[in-house]
Amino acid sequence: MKYGLTGASGRMGGEIRRVFSSHELVFALDLDGENFTENPEVMLDFSLPAALGKTLEAVRRFSCPLVLGTTGLSAAQMEDVRGLGSAVAVVQSSNFAAGVTLLKMILREYAPLFADWDAEISETHHNRKKDAPSGTAILLRDALGRDCPTHSLRLGGVPGDHSVSFANEGEMVTLTHRALSRSVFALGALKAAEFVLSARPGFYSFEEVLTCAQRR
Ligand code: NAD
Repeated sequence: MKYGLTGASGRMGGEIRRVFSSHELVFALDLDGENFTENPEVMLDFSLPAALGKTLEAVRRFSCPLVLGTTGLSAAQMEDVRGLGSAVAVVQSSNFAAGVTLLKMILREYAPLFADWDAEISETHHNRKKDAPSGTAILLRDALGRDCPTHSLRLGGVPGDHSVSFANEGEMVTLTHRALSRSVFALGALKAAEFVLSARPGFYSFEEVLTCAQRR
């Protein structure tokens, strides 16, 4: 596939270029400008919220689908992204690890059983991460279906740890996901890119990408 990438010089950009090595990077976008060789068939964005306008402009210019992994987007930016789904296929996720999607599905299904327990979320990321709480912590809180205290640690080179803890007076349950390397996110982004290439216009979650792949 011929792909375009916003944030091409970043940590995730490097990981995506490595995992997509059998595909062709034809449009790279970063702070130093654009590097265009051909129209991309799909655009990916793993950068910062400030770059979203350039990515949306590129998606309209090339009329191609989008895989969006950048976190920390404002409510207005998310509205723009959802709106784009009426024209092209868009997969947006704060976390492209399959295990986080599983955790989200477990919480959605079973968190109501813990409705009268205390619940707290904690996340740990590398010390260069810009946003807090992480997009994944917000995604897990949404799956939990209620507001709860959320704690962020920024330490060393941790790719991403998330725990959801429940406790009452007598017992405690903690569900944890740990990304062992960044490549897991890039592998998920590749699945999402393959999905959007043949998907109808719409706004899709990574859960829909994974459940659709399972039905095939
Ligand atoms: P990074 O800081 O290493 O890379 C960001 C890149 O974006 C840099 O190369 C930077 O120069 C570029 N950039 C910043 N502002 C820009 C602008 N205005 N125009 C063009 N380029 C711009 O960060 P990272 O660790 O690679 O993470 C990138 C994003 O991906 C973050 O939002 C992070 O939270 C997110 N992320 C998502 C997932 C997921 O699975 N969805 C996983 C990991 C990281």
